[in-house]
Amino acid sequence: MEKKYKKISVIGAGISGTGAAKLAIDLGAKVFISDNRPAEKLEEELKSAQIFSKVEFEGGGQSDKIYDCDLIVVSPAVWRTSPIFEEAKKRGIEVIGELEFAFRASKCKWLAITGSTGKSTTTAMINAIFDETDIPHCLCGNIGFSAAELAPKLPKNGVAICEISSFQLETIKEFCPDIAVILNLYPNHLDRHASLEEYYSTKLKISQNMKNGLKITTSENELLKNWAKNEAEHYFYNEADDEIINKIKNKIKLAGTHNLYNAVIGYKSAKYFDINEDKILSSLSKFAGLEHRMEFCAELNGVRYFNDSKSTTGESMLAAISGFAPKSVHLIVGGKDKGVPFADYKKTIYDNCAKVYAIGEAAKRIKDCWGDSVIDCETLTNAVETAKNSAKSGDVVILSPACASFDQFKGFEDRGKKFKEIVQNLQR
Ligand code: ADP
Repeated sequence: MEKKYKKISVIGAGISGTGAAKLAIDLGAKVFISDNRPAEKLEEELKSAQIFSKVEFEGGGQSDKIYDCDLIVVSPAVWRTSPIFEEAKKRGIEVIGELEFAFRASKCKWLAITGSTGKSTTTAMINAIFDETDIPHCLCGNIGFSAAELAPKLPKNGVAICEISSFQLETIKEFCPDIAVILNLYPNHLDRHASLEEYYSTKLKISQNMKNGLKITTSENELLKNWAKNEAEHYFYNEADDEIINKIKNKIKLAGTHNLYNAVIGYKSAKYFDINEDKILSSLSKFAGLEHRMEFCAELNGVRYFNDSKSTTGESMLAAISGFAPKSVHLIVGGKDKGVPFADYKKTIYDNCAKVYAIGEAAKRIKDCWGDSVIDCETLTNAVETAKNSAKSGDVVILSPACASFDQFKGFEDRGKKFKEIVQNLQR
């Protein structure tokens, strides 16, 4: 980082905030952290991040002390509408996000992955390929590890493999990855973005500074096709060409057509960094996926069970049931209704699913939309047991709820764990 900062304020002390604070300390700045949580909670967080004695801090919201600095670094949790941006501008203080801070302080290359759904799966898959090589790399960003903490430690030939949310892209300025991936674009986060257009254009910012390198999407979305084709001399546009698909389709462990396309992105990204093809294919064949994302749980009497509890949107549910033989899917769906347009999916459900087992608050609406193939099972246990009795060898049972979990569970992890327990019990 060329510019030297004497005092840096960090807003938010979660994973990105504490990571940014560590970087600021390493850069020799005095650090002030401000968080909305009460001071005692913040203290615990700073102690567990091992920076408690190295920073000053305030809990319970922001006082004017945050402006006593020459740079403000905000966590992705801080909304663009926060008065901090306006006030800092008036006072002539630059405000950047944690990702931008990480980028400015690093010398490594960046492989940046965004999109509406599939980010963690694809980022982890790419990281698994790099794990097979001696290229220094780190897995960071929205996937749960701070980019500011990890990327600046990498050498020039290192690669930061970074999952990026739209919130992190809101506050970039110079950020310029070597590879930018946008997996797909679906309506999302409309509580925080002013409009769909704003959400989409925030995603497209990922490559705003790229002059070279690679832009990758496998999406059929026109906006994304144009994004990737733009300046075609520099950028590769991949319509998931058959040659790559043929190479990987019998190799990858993960189920679903979407994962085949995720793997195409992994393959193409790895090739760009000159990773040997055998290594790419062997790591793709070993990558077992992430917990709760089309996670293979068991095979019982020829029926395979998949936990896709992270699927809380219609798009991820459609992705989950893709790639299996027609009418072979027993789909467990439902939970807390988020207003997914179930009626629009009726034909795909009819084509792909043998039966649908609806649970939770959304069950009634799902039955109204999809009709007789839906059995209202109310609970997850009931749904799995009913599916077991109906599925025949060669079929698959998938929990892909397209709904939030809070009507019956603590979160999607809790729901996925319960599903796995129930499936384990079927085996006894
Ligand atoms: P994100 O990090 O974007 O939330 P995850 O990797 O956690 O995405 O996956 C969320 C859900 O989306 C899971 O149900 C997963 O199986 C599904 N998914 C993974 N890749 C894709 C894709 N390319 N398109 C659509 N859905 C996908």
